Amino acid sequence: MVNIFSDIIPTDRIKYNEPLSNHTSFKIGGPADVLVTVNNPDELEKVINAAKAGNIDFFLLGNGSNVLSSDDGYRGAIIKLGGDFLGFETEGNMIKAGAGITLTKLANAAMNASLSGLEFASGIPGTLGGALFMNAGAYGGEMSQVVTKVVIFDKESNTVRTLKNEEMNFGYRRSVLKEKGFIALSCEMKLTPSDANTVRETMLELAQKRKEKQPLEFPSAGSTFKRPEGYFAGKLIEDAGLGGYTIGGAQVSEKHKGFVINRGSATAKDVTELIGYVKQKVKENAGVELEPEIIFLGNMK
Ligand SMILES: Cc1cc2nc3c(=O)[nH]c(=O)nc-3n(C[C@H](O)[C@H](O)[C@H](O)COP(=O)(O)OP(=O)(O)OC[C@H]3O[C@@H](n4cnc5c(N)ncnc54)[C@H](O)[C@@H]3O)c2cc1C
Repeated sequence: MVNIFSDIIPTDRIKYNEPLSNHTSFKIGGPADVLVTVNNPDELEKVINAAKAGNIDFFLLGNGSNVLSSDDGYRGAIIKLGGDFLGFETEGNMIKAGAGITLTKLANAAMNASLSGLEFASGIPGTLGGALFMNAGAYGGEMSQVVTKVVIFDKESNTVRTLKNEEMNFGYRRSVLKEKGFIALSCEMKLTPSDANTVRETMLELAQKRKEKQPLEFPSAGSTFKRPEGYFAGKLIEDAGLGGYTIGGAQVSEKHKGFVINRGSATAKDVTELIGYVKQKVKENAGVELEPEIIFLGNMK
């Protein structure tokens, strides 16, 4: 690919033919034509404008913890957030953070400021931006409960705007970012005063629960399917007798049937075939249509 970003971004933040397996928690994915890390909103806008002008597709990647990337990789530019996007500040019971910060760092920052409300997020291996896009949640908490404002970049109109919680259209694993393709730049959250030890204890308890229930020892993208209304995806998959079912290197986890795991050599093709098989068998067994929660990146054929 032509080096259209080299006038905008220092070359050490531009990588060509970068394997996406290095940037996804599934550890799957062929090379992206180019992967560029932007350190502030100005760089982000310039990179997007250059991609548009060069007719190059682009995709904003967070921590890649909810993404299955194609074995062929991505024809275009993968954009990641660094620099200023990783910062945070606390004031009273408010915390404001850049969209690139990891949820673990954010939850620790809240704990250190004796603020409660982000404990649920401490074990979710994504960034704040990815969590806003997905309205990530766990153990009764979700992003919609703490967000007050999100600063977004609208890549269609090239404008920066601030959206209030009610303008975020938060729902189950969705938000206006998903609907409209807005990019989150930063976010303000309102938490509850507590004490650091209580917050730490809750975080440790939840981490223990995750360790017991989830196959954290294998690469995955978390729950593969959304929770169908009135059911649990893991239970439906278990009832269809699919625990441990394997295609190539992809396997329905024995420990948590809702997770597809990479046993070491899985390809995106293995995972998509397994997803298709699971969907078919659950439909036959229980009449329920499972819908993937994970985001597919690149050409899946
Ligand atoms: C072991 C494990 C456990 C998990 N547990 C949970 C859980 O308990 N609850 C839960 O909800 N999820 C869970 N997940 C899934 C995942 O971590 C979350 O969905 C997380 O919010 C994704 O964030 P990310 O930064 O990795 O996003 P990515 O996977 O990189 O991207 C996901 C989507 O968000 C978009 N996106 C990323 N950043 C931005 C931004 N700044 N602006 C706009 N769009 C953006 C991307 O374009 C993409 O479409 C788990 C995953 C794993 C591997």
